[in-house]
Amino acid sequence: MKYLILLSAIVLAFQSSRWRSNPANLDIAPEPAAATRLPRNIILLIGDGMGIAQITAGIYARADKLHIEHLPITGLMKTHSAKNLITDSAAGATAFACGCKTFNGAIGVDAQKRPCRTILEDAAAAGMATGLVATSSITHATPAAFIAHVSKRSEMEEIAPFFLKTRIDFFIGGGLSYFNQRTDGRDLCRELQAKGFDIHTYQQRTLQQCRPDPARPFAWFSADKEPEGVHKGRDYLPLAARIAPPFLAQRSEKGFFLMIEGSQIDWACHKNNGEQAVQEMLDFDNAIGEVLQFAQQDGNTLVIVTADHETGGMALLRGSDKKELKIKFSTLNHTATLVPVFAYGPGAEAFSGVYDNTDLHAKMKALLQLGTVEAR
Ligand code: MG
Ligand code: ZN
Repeated sequence: MKYLILLSAIVLAFQSSRWRSNPANLDIAPEPAAATRLPRNIILLIGDGMGIAQITAGIYARADKLHIEHLPITGLMKTHSAKNLITDSAAGATAFACGCKTFNGAIGVDAQKRPCRTILEDAAAAGMATGLVATSSITHATPAAFIAHVSKRSEMEEIAPFFLKTRIDFFIGGGLSYFNQRTDGRDLCRELQAKGFDIHTYQQRTLQQCRPDPARPFAWFSADKEPEGVHKGRDYLPLAARIAPPFLAQRSEKGFFLMIEGSQIDWACHKNNGEQAVQEMLDFDNAIGEVLQFAQQDGNTLVIVTADHETGGMALLRGSDKKELKIKFSTLNHTATLVPVFAYGPGAEAFSGVYDNTDLHAKMKALLQLGTVEAR
């Protein structure tokens, strides 16, 4: 007994000295969770490479308020990958999709190269409808990490067959040639059609000319490989963002998970082209506007807008004013700065604060109650 008291005293002394010596590191217990209304649907919008400077440039480039300014909850997110301070889009999207830190280049696999289950796969297993929309090829790192499991992002032909393995109800993006002009001779478009898919390509018709029927899963390919930028006339992203939510809502009464990517904000910033970065940012913002309009009417949809990382180390310099932005870049690559998160709808409060990109996954999964798939 005497020893026990002594031991407790030592433990207490140790603990209190630890608290005193490191007051900044106090763990603040989270507030008891308020009764949060759960969302039926989640729409995750990812602006690839969209840091705070990119958003700021978009805001001052347009006279009106951007749609992104209407999301009431904001947070900040750390983006580092397993071993690198600076992530790439593959590891960044895998953190959102699977909730694990992994190596740069990894698509839906963990740091040991083991496949990790994605939130899209979990949603599909729970009977929810799912969708992916991108302004890159649909096999590109960001969308791919939600549906495929390969350890090298450049293996586009290996990524494409995963679109046949998981329930996906709606997808739009480039990369047609990875489906129908493959080195292994398979025609994945035909295989998808055999599974009931209604498939259209940019050569046949524009997205505007398509009439997606919720009775069948739908896909539209916007390019053979990578779609053009906004500056060359690409205009399908806001329309895709208008079509996808009501389509998916009709595909399942259990709700849906939809990821929409503004892929080319990143590409413009890699080129250190401020003007194109702003154009891509505003195009992405128009997609946000379409989604918000749906969410407002629907009332059961959580909308999250974020980025996988910042690209270019963009800065808005002296001499910039509202009419003429002076955009400079400090690198041709990605940077490690925190990226913002914006949220609207049931469960949005959970996205306030500073947290890790893997926490974004955990929050989405908890709100969709996908930890207990059977319970749905
Ligand atoms: Mg991307
Ligand atoms: Zn990039």
